[in-house]
Amino acid sequence: MKKADKRIKSMTTKKTDILEVCSPCGLTANYLTCLKKYGKPPIKKAHDVSTYHAGTCDVCGEKTSVTEPRDFFYPDFNLILKKIKV
Ligand SMILES: [Zn+2]
Repeated sequence: MKKADKRIKSMTTKKTDILEVCSPCGLTANYLTCLKKYGKPPIKKAHDVSTYHAGTCDVCGEKTSVTEPRDFFYPDFNLILKKIKV
């Protein structure tokens, strides 16, 4: 992990335990976060380079390719979690 990443992480302290997220969940969370924050879809959907690996998505529970929330700019996963639970 690079130094800059750690700094970003500490700046965006969210009450979530999302450490690994699959692409659909990350994209959706980023989309919902931008809609909520700016009233617009995100200009950039995800980082150009994501490091996916096999794992379990902490949002939907799927065993699939997952990456870090950083790749989706640390969106508010509560927005998507609420949706799933309803
Ligand atoms: Zn997922």
